[in-house]
Amino acid sequence: MTDCVFCKIVARQIPATLVDEDEHTLAFMDIGQVNPGHVLVAVKKHVQDIFALDETQAAAVFRAAARVSRAIRDAFSPQGLSVYQANGKAAGQTVFHFHVHLVPRQERDGMELTWPVKNPPRDKLVDYAERIRAKLG
Ligand code: AMP
Ligand code: ZN
Repeated sequence: MTDCVFCKIVARQIPATLVDEDEHTLAFMDIGQVNPGHVLVAVKKHVQDIFALDETQAAAVFRAAARVSRAIRDAFSPQGLSVYQANGKAAGQTVFHFHVHLVPRQERDGMELTWPVKNPPRDKLVDYAERIRAKLG
């Protein structure tokens, strides 16, 4: 996609600090670095979000994410690591080319995601599950 920053990184048209690559994915340092060692794993072929991933891309992204996560762990010895992935503006996506964030974490490092649990009754969970199952095909 001509106007996509991550497509330009994949095509080596703009600079990025590369970490790893395979046939379907490219891993590079996030320019913002929420914590030192913050890496993005992007698909090479442009798709906007998780809804557009094909099976091969989906498998390749998580394989790469696990591989690079282990290397981040070994390089930075973080206390934890968050995998973050946003789809759509409402979810916080700002670059509309599918990617996964790997963020090394420390206690009280300031990275926050509010998690407003609703704890609905079981029949609600059953209803929600049925609605999703009906669409799985
Ligand atoms: P998201 O908000 O999940 O779509 O994340 C987009 C991420 O891309 C942000 O964390 C940015 O810091 C990062 N980013 C944007 N442009 C670049 C770039 N040229 N090189 C590396 N990371 C980038
Ligand atoms: Zn793209």
